Amino acid sequence: MNIQMMDLKRQYAEIKDEVQPKVLEILEGGWYVGGPEVKNFEEKAAEYVGVKHAIGCANGTDALQISMMAAGIKAGDEVITTPFTFIATAETIKILGAVPVFVDVDKDTYNIDPALIEAAITDKTKAIIPVHLYGQAADMDPIMQIAEKHNLVVIEDNAQGIGAKYKGKMLGSLGHMATVSFYPAKNLGAAGDGGLILTNDDEFAAQIRIIANHGQNERYKHQVVGVNSRLDAIQAGILSIKLKRLDGWNNKRRVVAEKYKDKLKDVALVPYEDKDNYHIYHQFSIQLENRDELQKFLFDNKIPNAIHYPIPLHLQVAFENLGLGKGSFPISEKIAENIISLPMHPDLSDEEINFITDKVKEFYK
Ligand SMILES: *Cc1c(COP(=O)(O)O)cnc(C)c1O
Repeated sequence: MNIQMMDLKRQYAEIKDEVQPKVLEILEGGWYVGGPEVKNFEEKAAEYVGVKHAIGCANGTDALQISMMAAGIKAGDEVITTPFTFIATAETIKILGAVPVFVDVDKDTYNIDPALIEAAITDKTKAIIPVHLYGQAADMDPIMQIAEKHNLVVIEDNAQGIGAKYKGKMLGSLGHMATVSFYPAKNLGAAGDGGLILTNDDEFAAQIRIIANHGQNERYKHQVVGVNSRLDAIQAGILSIKLKRLDGWNNKRRVVAEKYKDKLKDVALVPYEDKDNYHIYHQFSIQLENRDELQKFLFDNKIPNAIHYPIPLHLQVAFENLGLGKGSFPISEKIAENIISLPMHPDLSDEEINFITDKVKEFYK
């Protein structure tokens, strides 16, 4: 058996007949950055998520930085987020000279706990960045209420959740802005890097376009100091083809997740899906004791796996200056200790699922 953590070659084989002529057409067309392919993808993506504006950029990390710049976040401001996420969420806060203020997560969904947010708000707080971790929604209603009460901007880090829903609404349509990553391993992945910013707000959209393009609104007229962050035409062309298949792929992931849960619920803490959520299982991550030894056992049995994420951000050397030691965010710390992600992709077969789950059970016998 040749189990893959995610099966990008298989995905390519499925869409090759559509992707190859599209890429050749773009190569012959000579318009490689921005242009009609990017515009077309932006329109399709905005329609899919149900927002007014979608603006392509170079990657999901830039999407976060540009959104915060559009929100006017600057040195000394505070931005509330979760410590249990990929570094990009907090890294971009710090790059702007702002301060990441961490708030612990809910023990079931692993997303920022709205009940703890208000205690973290100061007169320097400007924004909240909830992350829809593993493809499951953060609890957005109370987050938006708190934001409204304190006049804060909410930027959804939706790098892992495009196509997922909260109370029937698409993630990426709930905050003032939202960011998406098209890193190849994401549920909607490019053949390289790419990112997107979503918003219903005309002014944010205009700012985002200016900032992502060197701060210029007209050629060589620079209104602000911006960045260079653009989506390539080839990536946009490929993403347009993949977007049509995203719901189908996400549904298949959900089927795989249910099979996994059924087989593992007696040995591991399996993912909890809130009744209000439509989870798209970017990762299928379970919690167990002796995780590190299990990981070694799985690798020995040629079962790929990964830890998302082994060190919560407040304990990273890069954030040492925040002075937050062990014990600051006990729920995040406990999850980081016990979590492990198993192979997850739409085409994981029953045979593969059985093999993986049998090995996990064998380890705990
Ligand atoms: C992948 C990811 C990002 C960054 O996206 P890139 O496209 O790799 O820059 C940001 N936040 C989260 C939660 C992610 O998973």
